Amino acid sequence: MPRPARLTTTQKGLGYPHQKRKREALAALRDGDPCARCEARGRYHPMYRAWSSSLELDDFPPRVIARALGITPVKRLSWSFCNRSAGGRLGNQIKAARRGGQPGQYTRW
Ligand SMILES: [Zn+2]
Repeated sequence: MPRPARLTTTQKGLGYPHQKRKREALAALRDGDPCARCEARGRYHPMYRAWSSSLELDDFPPRVIARALGITPVKRLSWSFCNRSAGGRLGNQIKAARRGGQPGQYTRW
C-alpha cells in the first residue's frame, strides 16, 4: 500500500485530516510536555505518551478567541478532560460576556 508523501501545500491547509495531525503531534510528544490547556492557565500539567489515548489535539487558543485576537490558532495537545472543561468554561464566559457581565474579573475559580 503506497504511503502518502511529505506534506504538500494543500495538505497543510484546511482539508488536512485531523487524525494524522494528532499522530504527528503524539510522535513529537515527550513525556512531561505540558498540557496546553493548563499551561494557558499558568499551571504545569505533564502529558505522557503512555496515555496518548486520553490526549486531544485542538485549536489553541480556541477558535473564537483566536478570531477575536486576529491570530491563527495552532494545534496543540492537551488532556481531553482539560479540553472539555476548558470548553465549558469558555462557553460560560462567552454567555456571561453577552449578558454584559465581566468574567475577566473573576480570578478565583
Ligand atoms: Zn491539563
